[in-house]
Amino acid sequence: MFDKFREECGVFGIFRHHEAANLAYLGLYALQHRGQESAGIASTDGRRVRVAREMGYVADVFDEATLNGLQGHAAIGHVRYSTAGSSLLENAQPILIDCAHGQIAICHNGNLVNAGELRADLVREGSIFQTSSDTEVVLHLYARSKAPTPEEAFVESIGQVTGAYSLVMLTSEQLIAARDPHGFRPLALGRLGEAWIVCSETCALDLIGATYVRDVEPGEVIVISEKGLKSRKPYPQAHLSHCIFEHVYFSRPDSYVFGLSVNEVRTSLGRQLAREAPVDADVVVPIPDSGVCAAMGYAEVSGIPFRMGLIRNHYVGRTFIQPQQSIRHFGVKVKLNPVRSILEGRRVVLLDDSIVRGTTSRKIVKLVKAAGAREVHMRISCPPTVSPCFYGVDTPRRSELIAATHTLGEIKKYLQADSLAYLGLEGLLAAVGQQRANYCTSCYTGQYPVEFPRDADKYLQLTLKLQPDPARATGSALANVARQ
Ligand code: SF4
Repeated sequence: MFDKFREECGVFGIFRHHEAANLAYLGLYALQHRGQESAGIASTDGRRVRVAREMGYVADVFDEATLNGLQGHAAIGHVRYSTAGSSLLENAQPILIDCAHGQIAICHNGNLVNAGELRADLVREGSIFQTSSDTEVVLHLYARSKAPTPEEAFVESIGQVTGAYSLVMLTSEQLIAARDPHGFRPLALGRLGEAWIVCSETCALDLIGATYVRDVEPGEVIVISEKGLKSRKPYPQAHLSHCIFEHVYFSRPDSYVFGLSVNEVRTSLGRQLAREAPVDADVVVPIPDSGVCAAMGYAEVSGIPFRMGLIRNHYVGRTFIQPQQSIRHFGVKVKLNPVRSILEGRRVVLLDDSIVRGTTSRKIVKLVKAAGAREVHMRISCPPTVSPCFYGVDTPRRSELIAATHTLGEIKKYLQADSLAYLGLEGLLAAVGQQRANYCTSCYTGQYPVEFPRDADKYLQLTLKLQPDPARATGSALANVARQ
């Protein structure tokens, strides 16, 4: 319903705990914001790997009986929002296979940019794919590997893929975690008593009472078994490219990601925005929930009071049924309600983390004005998003990104805001401090750190993002959104 980039997935793994599946279930709860289309857990008792996965929220997928069926001392879990591969149960993870190396289940966060190419080669050589997910490519490479052990087979198969991956895999006896050499997506390592945990964000460690140990390093493969934890770095070093959007929007503010507090970074973005784009106003209002931290930072530096002038209904799920045409104008009001006592007669600074197509922002500006706001000054806590992501984030094609095809003045006019300002790229990078060179900023710059295929016939899913949609090719994103 909101016009946002969407994170693809969250992963969780735990080894050596008698309630492994139950803790994986809790971990997935904490990671639910990273994917709401499907959820799954695989567990092992040392002899056999079992899996349960379904479409829907974590709370809907698992009940007591399902969790009781996932016995064992180790488990991995996954929440998914699809990017590569359509949203079907067959693409839900963990994906479990049985091959010459034994059973193995896999969970993946990221996007493999050479998956299409590898898949075509594998199919030519006789492989039969059961899903349209890029992750299955890793399993085929693993199954075909002649390496003597599952660990070596895994290292060999991962060595053939490029792009973004934070992976957790489970065999009957081992938990294996790996992060791509660029470190696009986060992966944290934690401890709970004798148990080891790996997870996308540290908020999952907090929920189960585990302690954060460190991040799984870019290019690192960690193998956890009854013998303990073994770390190795089998791949050539690469330029680091942590996804800066994790700090801007995706990750929960109570998480530490890439070694930094998301809350602190996000608040700094708001502070910097107040320095770069000040405005005379009476109240700073965030678009909840994503704009809250930045709005607090903006209010702190500007001295303008922070108020919750928009209240979000948290109980509108993905199953929300669009009302009939006659009452569709309710639109964004289903999710956001303005607080008239805060907005009426006021000059409002409206804070959000990003604008993708601009459709929702336009509706929200209208909503705030309808509640009596005298002026609405839109402030965005990151630079204009002008390019799609190919590293595990669901983004529309370039022609649909309003900032890719329109000037600041045109966007302001479309939103019907009294002023509009984005945070500059320098300001964004300043918020991550000394690590600024280690971040991917491709969606703001169009400069991609890992080359991706551009053959439209072979790599439709990826290339479509850069090309106009033929069905809607009117030459203007604004023309597209204005018709909706
Ligand atoms: S392109 Fe943007 S969303 Fe994708 S990995 Fe880079 S910073 Fe993150």
